[in-house]
Amino acid sequence: MGNWKDNLIDIAPYVAGEQPKKADFIKLNANENPYPPSPKVIEAINSFKAAGLNKYPDADATPLVSAVAERAGLSEENVFIGNGSDDVLALCFRAFFNSGKPVLYPDITYSFYPVWCSMLKIPYELIPVDEDFNIRAEDYKRENGGVIICNPNAPTSIGRDLDFMREILDANPDSVVISDEAYVDFGGVSALPLLKEYPNLAVVQTFSKSRSMAGMRIGCCFGGKDIIGALRAAKDSYNSYPVDSVAIAAGCASIADEEYFRVTVDRIIRTRDRLTDELRKMGFDVKDSSTNFLFASHPKYRAADISAFLKTKDIYVRFFNKPRIDNHLRITIGTDEEIDALIGALKEYIKNPGMGIDIRED
Ligand code: PMP
Repeated sequence: MGNWKDNLIDIAPYVAGEQPKKADFIKLNANENPYPPSPKVIEAINSFKAAGLNKYPDADATPLVSAVAERAGLSEENVFIGNGSDDVLALCFRAFFNSGKPVLYPDITYSFYPVWCSMLKIPYELIPVDEDFNIRAEDYKRENGGVIICNPNAPTSIGRDLDFMREILDANPDSVVISDEAYVDFGGVSALPLLKEYPNLAVVQTFSKSRSMAGMRIGCCFGGKDIIGALRAAKDSYNSYPVDSVAIAAGCASIADEEYFRVTVDRIIRTRDRLTDELRKMGFDVKDSSTNFLFASHPKYRAADISAFLKTKDIYVRFFNKPRIDNHLRITIGTDEEIDALIGALKEYIKNPGMGIDIRED
């Protein structure tokens, strides 16, 4: 006789950045935006007619699809909106990767990809990035059941150009190629201009980072008619209404405030470039970032120790206890004050590095 517990899912889930329970700390470990969403978003939520919540939302989030499509110069049939880009990506894996051949992605990238493969029983092959953590387009010219590239990549922060994406797309006309562009607004190069040439391209973006709306859960996919049609069919096979009415209204308000979007992104880029300089002055090796975070290591001090020390100062950065990157820190760009506190703490550590407590975390 079997045990009912044998029938439960057996999977290693994605582990997100720690969410400390205490009130007063500096959280630089989840690549969140330190600034609030646009005042227009706040106003849209405050004036939302909650009495209308008895009705289901628009199943395809049409008003938001329309606003996002217009901003991108595309039509509604080219845009899909979901409950955060994790939801959109999960649907992409479900809808596009059915060939039985391995899906290709870098060994160092967003650690949710293997989780979806495992959950959906999709075979995959990890393609090593080079010793400087660059993804090489030539490595994606082999038989596959799909390709997903995070560009700019996480956690390395490294962005690649349009020629790089074009090279991968040219080599893979028979697979869907996903460009995960969660961080693209902070200086990356979007593959959106390639959509007209490549019907097998899916570009996934999010409102969580550059639009300061991680708590709202809005993500989108841009693609040709067939790509978006497959996503809608996948959505309607598990949850017809993944985007609620409040999110639709708030998302539209965010798109309507281009000025706030630009100012906030520019502010983060400026803080990022300042922190890059400061870290390099302290001897850190810091990758040139096209994102709202930095990927850094120090030749003298262990990342685990630095992370543990920072925690004693109530500053949380992300440390991955994983092969190839277990001496690196991923540091989200916070406000200027938060980054000043981080710089101060790191200077203190470097003056007296014995203070680290070796707590390994993932
Ligand atoms: N892609 C990448 C590369 C990410 O880092 C994240 C954030 N963890 C996501 C997608 C998902 O973000 P969200 O679901 O908030 O849109």
